[in-house]
This record gives sequence, C-alpha cells and structure tokens, in this order.
Amino acid sequence: MSGPRVRFAPSPTGFFHVGSARSALFNWFIARQSPEGFFILRIEDTDAERNREEWVDGIVSAMSWLGLTLDAGPFRQSDNAGAHQAGVEALIASGDLYYCDCTGDLVAARKGDNKTPGYDGFCRDRGLGKGPTTALRFRTPDSGTIVVHDLIRGEVEFAHTVIDDFVVAKSSGAVLYALANVVDDRNDRITHVIRGEEHLPNAPKQMMLWSALNAALGEEVALPTYAHLPLLVNKERKKLSKRKDPVATESYRDQGYLPEAFVNYLALLGWSPRGDEEIVPLSQMIEQFRLEDVSHSPAFFDVAKLSHMNGEYVRALSPEAFIERSAPWITPWATDWKPTDREVPWSEAEFNAELFARVAPLVQERISLLGDIPAMVSFFFLPAVPYNDADFDKAIRNDAKGREMLAHAIEYFASVNWASADLHEATVKVGEGLELNLRKAQAPIRCAVTGSLVGPPLFESLELLGREEVLRRLRGALERSA
Ligand code: GLU
Repeated sequence: MSGPRVRFAPSPTGFFHVGSARSALFNWFIARQSPEGFFILRIEDTDAERNREEWVDGIVSAMSWLGLTLDAGPFRQSDNAGAHQAGVEALIASGDLYYCDCTGDLVAARKGDNKTPGYDGFCRDRGLGKGPTTALRFRTPDSGTIVVHDLIRGEVEFAHTVIDDFVVAKSSGAVLYALANVVDDRNDRITHVIRGEEHLPNAPKQMMLWSALNAALGEEVALPTYAHLPLLVNKERKKLSKRKDPVATESYRDQGYLPEAFVNYLALLGWSPRGDEEIVPLSQMIEQFRLEDVSHSPAFFDVAKLSHMNGEYVRALSPEAFIERSAPWITPWATDWKPTDREVPWSEAEFNAELFARVAPLVQERISLLGDIPAMVSFFFLPAVPYNDADFDKAIRNDAKGREMLAHAIEYFASVNWASADLHEATVKVGEGLELNLRKAQAPIRCAVTGSLVGPPLFESLELLGREEVLRRLRGALERSA
C-alpha cells in the first residue's frame, strides 16, 4: 500500500504567512507519519503579475529553517503549462467547458435587480469558439448537491444552485488557479489536500473538475481527501491582517525565534497534543497528529504565548548550543545566515568571544528571543557606556541619593574582594547607610555601569567586567551627572 501523498502549494505573492507555515507543517506531519509518506512543494506561480522571485526564495528558505523536508520539489506550477493545456483541451472535447464572451457589465445588466451572485449561464449554448475575447467556463449542474468530505469539518454540502459556471481559463489563454491546481494534484496523485479554510468554497468546484478530468482523460484517479484548517485570528478575534498583524514567518526568524519553538507553537494552532504539556518533542507531535483531531474553530495566534514558549526553548539549550545559536545576532560577520535589517552594536574588533561565553549564561535565563541579546549585553563590549537618558536622569542625574550611592560604592568597590557575592554584600551595606533597600541601592550602579535599568544580573556582570572598568564607569557616571 502506498502512503499519503501531500503537497504544500503556496502562491508567492508576499511574505511567508504564519498561516501558510502552519499548512505546510500539518502536511509535513501527515507525510512523516508513515514511511511511504510523500511531501511535495509546488510553487503556484501562474499569476505572473502578483508573483515575485524573492517571495519564492522566502518560502523555500523559511521551510528549510523550520525543517520541513521535501520528498520532491520545489516544483513550479508554471512549468506544467503543457499539462494544464491538455486538461483544458480534454474538457473542451468532453463538453465540460464552453466559451463565453460576456463582460462583467453585461452579466450585471442582464440581472437587473436580481441579486443572485455569479454567472447566469448566458453563453452555455451559444456555441462560441475560441477568440481573443472568449474565456472558458465550466458547465456545472443546475440542481442537486455536492458533498465535500472534510476530515476537519465533516460532510459539507453545497447546493449546485450556488455554484455558477466558473471561469477556468481567461481569454488570454491563461489557465486559472482552480483548474491548474487540480491538474497538478491529480498528476501528482495527491491523496490529501490540507490547506486553509478560505479554500473550502473551492473544494466542490475542484472535485467536479477532478471527476470531469477523470472521465475526459479516460483515467480514473481517486479524489483526494480534504482538510480545511481553521482560520487564524488576532486578539480581537479577527482574521489575521497582513497589514496590522505580524504574520511574516521571516520576521520571526529575524527576531530570534528558534525554529523548534516556532514549529511547536504552530502545531498548537487548531490542534493539541495529548496530555497537559504543550511543549512536546517533534517526534511525539508527528506520531500523535491526526487531522480528525484538528478543531474547526478559529485559532488565536498569540504572539505573547509564542514568545513565552520560545523563552522556554531558549532556556532548555545547553550553554554551548545557546552561544552557537546566538551567533547570527552576535557575530553576524562570521555566519552564513544573518537576520535582515539588524545591526550589531559592536564592531568585530570590540567584540570579545571569551567574555561573551561567560556572559551568555546570565542572559540565557532572561531573554525570550535571541535578537534581544545584543541590547542586553552591549555594555560589555562598547568602549562608551550606552546610556539610556531617561534611565540615567531617573536613577542618577535627578536623584541625589543615587549619586551619593555611587560615590560610596566607588570607595567600597576599590578594595572589596572582587566576586559577585561580595559585591552584592557591599552594595547592601552601602545602601543601608543611605537607607536604601537593595533594589534602590543597585539602580544607580546598574545604570552607571550598563547604561540602563534593566539587564542581566548585576553583580555577576560587575564581576565579569572587572574592578578597573567598573570603577571607571562609576566615576564617569558621576562626572556625566555634574
Ligand atoms: N495557491 C493556493 C494558495 O496559496 C493553494 C491552495 C491549495 O492548497 O490548494 O492559497
């Protein structure tokens, strides 16, 4: 018995939408569940006006980032034009298609006040031939129903009266999505069509085309099983908007989400693994995933939850892996891939790999995204403290006690044993003298040394920077406030 044959068939018209990434993942799960499973990437690039080569690259590289391995492809739909044309000719010969020269205006004028949507079948029996203004329409039944067997939605029934004679090829000869997609799926012997719910209304049309091709070409190929994945919505429970919501998978990669965390999160969009745990190893997700268990209610794409999950994955990395995986954000001059539109705050000469290796465990505990590392550690490498002016004003310039705290710390730190525990103790003591609790006592020191009021654990950072450098910065901050 052969295994499931699935495909991911994106149109390269923009960034790689997170919803598309989820479709690709669910297809991939199905293919990887059985040894004979087969996963194809088909780039549906027939709409030349809307497609761009960079979007194709985006899809291919994002899929490879996510580890969605292919068994064949990427193929280009445009390379199959011959097969699409053969399909058209067979369907003309079988009488399933007819030529139509109606413009939209003409159809509307004929309808008058009748608001029935779609085409009225005017050209069905006019016997028009091929010409510069004739498109090809598919002759659909006038009555009865067609049922889409959807693994997620169950039996979805469509009355033929709501499906008009739709266009399959334009007057230019260009074959449209509905037919090109079916010809390719049929030729690729696709067994499961797994895609977003916006395609559900296409399914009955595509089933009719598939059956018509079977008859016209004299080759019976089993219809695929359908699974239409639930819509992704934002906080307001509205469909994710390309303009307003962060939907580009590429941007998650740039921000430093780990692909394994991203995949885990995508898997939860409409599905959940068994048990209480949401963080689940990939092998378990592959094993447990069932299309029948996918919900048909909209799934909330929750960026906060995704970030939280990423943080968990980041913390689970070994210290060595954390350093290695951070490299594109830390030492982009030495990596093959680097995030788009991001600059590291330091130069190659300023960066110190040995120091970073010691700093890394401190930040690994505190960040969710690898892209947040540079801002948190830049003070270790930059010759001038990267001051945040608002923080500086708050903790030092406009705070007399803060400045006193710095002056006393300079005295104490000159001779204290240089280890984080002793630095901690010294800070508590100096603070007590000024009636400051530890939080208040360390704020001006943190700001003087790191430039801001948030960052990695302070005393460990001081220890790593060394006495000379810390004293220099404490004095520098006092001078700056004068
Ligand atoms: N090219 C279509 C899209 O990107 C494919 C739909 C399908 O999977 O059939 O929406």
